[in-house]
Amino acid sequence: MNRNIVESYRKKLAAESGYLVDRGAGLRIALCYPNTHSIGMANLGLHTMYELFNGIPGVSCERVFLPDPHELKEYEKSRMPLLTLETQTPVRDFDIVAFSISFETDYLNMARMLQLSGIPVWAKDRNHFHPLVVMGGAASFLNPEPIAEFTDIVAVGEGEILAYQLIDAILENETKEEILLSLARVGRGFYVPSFYDVIYNDDGTVFDYLPNQEDVPLRIGRAVAAVNPKEGTLRRALKRGEDDLADFLINQDVFCPSTSIWSPGAEMGDRLLVEISRGCSQGCRFCWAGYNYYPPRVVPAKDILAKAAEWRSKTDKIGLVSTAVCDHPEISTILSELRAMNYRISVSSLRLDQISDELLDALVESNDQQIAVAPETGSDRLRRVINKNLTNDEIVDICGAVFDRGMLTIKLYMMVGLPTETQEDLDEIFVLVERIKDRMLEAGKRFGRAGRIIPSLNGFVPKPNTPLQWDAICDEKELKKRIKYVCKGLSRIPNVDVRFMSARIAHEQALFSSGDRTVAKVIDRAAQLDGDIDRALRETGVDVAFQTSRDRNYDEFLPWSIVDSGLSFEFLKTEHEKAREARSSLPCPAVEKCTTCGVCPTTWLADAPESLIQIQPAAIRTALGHAV
Ligand code: SF4
Repeated sequence: MNRNIVESYRKKLAAESGYLVDRGAGLRIALCYPNTHSIGMANLGLHTMYELFNGIPGVSCERVFLPDPHELKEYEKSRMPLLTLETQTPVRDFDIVAFSISFETDYLNMARMLQLSGIPVWAKDRNHFHPLVVMGGAASFLNPEPIAEFTDIVAVGEGEILAYQLIDAILENETKEEILLSLARVGRGFYVPSFYDVIYNDDGTVFDYLPNQEDVPLRIGRAVAAVNPKEGTLRRALKRGEDDLADFLINQDVFCPSTSIWSPGAEMGDRLLVEISRGCSQGCRFCWAGYNYYPPRVVPAKDILAKAAEWRSKTDKIGLVSTAVCDHPEISTILSELRAMNYRISVSSLRLDQISDELLDALVESNDQQIAVAPETGSDRLRRVINKNLTNDEIVDICGAVFDRGMLTIKLYMMVGLPTETQEDLDEIFVLVERIKDRMLEAGKRFGRAGRIIPSLNGFVPKPNTPLQWDAICDEKELKKRIKYVCKGLSRIPNVDVRFMSARIAHEQALFSSGDRTVAKVIDRAAQLDGDIDRALRETGVDVAFQTSRDRNYDEFLPWSIVDSGLSFEFLKTEHEKAREARSSLPCPAVEKCTTCGVCPTTWLADAPESLIQIQPAAIRTALGHAV
């Protein structure tokens, strides 16, 4: 046992509270976050799965992180296998090694952690003495294919609904083969990659996935968690004064995903993080989070506030996690009650169209966060392409409302290389930033100081299960040229500090988010080469341009189609065609009986277990004593 590593882990534990240790549990899970402790502890998915697994009788779950650089040196020097944080037990001694992966950029770290653990990276090289390797998290239902062959089971969907089913199957079956078969046959939520052979066309595109076991589904449906009432239904009930229905929805006993371990040394570790809603109704065509978490759902205010009250003695900081904070029908109550508890409020993201005076006031009062907004691009036309339905005039007005409250520094998220982008679109970025800067200086005069405008440029990366999934990423050289052009133009504007992501990184992201199974060998090799993806590509001969830089036609079987997100092909195709014509679409209404995108009829209402009754209109009426 390397003393320096153990020391380092114990030091981290000494600064934390709320973690659990049960060495005698029958089933032990090593919950792995494929990044460092500091980054991982800011991930609500990790907190949620830790709490869920440890809440199951007979199960003990410990955390594992990618070692910090100084720990990594010790691991390499001592050749000691990777240890869990809580009890410093080798990860390979656990029954289950469960990865929670939110970002495809962490795939390399997943392979690295398996290598460090002494567990064969490829599922085919493992036997029944090895732990079961499970992958979950957002990346699992976006496109698990680049790491499918590393994984025994991919949990396709949201952890709140899948954790119990996974544990039941493991406890109820004897052998690894039986466990895998019973999960694969559930039909929704569990993908066993080894049960599917990938058939390729002569040109290298995927022809289809063929099951090699009986009674496993052709496609694996995404499991949608049974957490909350639909936001639209609740909002409408409140608006119409349907108190019985609103009470019924609000008083559901729901799981409120939040910080479960207090870890002040980690990023965001000094605050309570609470997920207040999941999914976003706006349908921005580039946004994976919006489409892959349909339908939008909310956690009732009472559950959020109860959690906040419970944690108030520990901290005065709270982070509201949501893609659409102000879409919450009870946001006024939430903000006013949190302010009454003297919480300093921050939010995970601010959607420009939904910034309210109330929220801005709460953020100013908290003085805890630099405001970041996302105009995405400088042209109204291109914003219609991506279905972000705001004009430059509106954006300047919204930024003005921020500046008028004395918050004079603002970060602007922008994308370069969007489909149909022209030279004029790029030039309009300069005009928009110049206008925002002028508005900031005007407000700054009243406060006697000037702030900064910080545009942050990212290359557009097409994401699976979005309407732009058929588009190629902009050619690397061309993307580099455009980013350089925009950076140069922006750097000439006073009071502007531009930041950017390199075209190279955008292309690596595209490879991991849209690649097929052949990408696995690049990941494995790059992990062995300390992250050298260029060399791994050369050695494996994988053609990046084929995986990322070609438009895909509607007939192509997309590698991620093995997972059925619930979004219908027709819906995505129509949205893609509308993007090409710069035509916008209405937001998801989040009400019952809607069939627009296909998610509600196929995942949400189709085979809902009993715990989902709150969102089934018929069941709601029955529960309320109304005629069905
Ligand atoms: S079916 Fe309708 S309500 Fe349901 S997620 Fe799709 S657009 Fe939204």
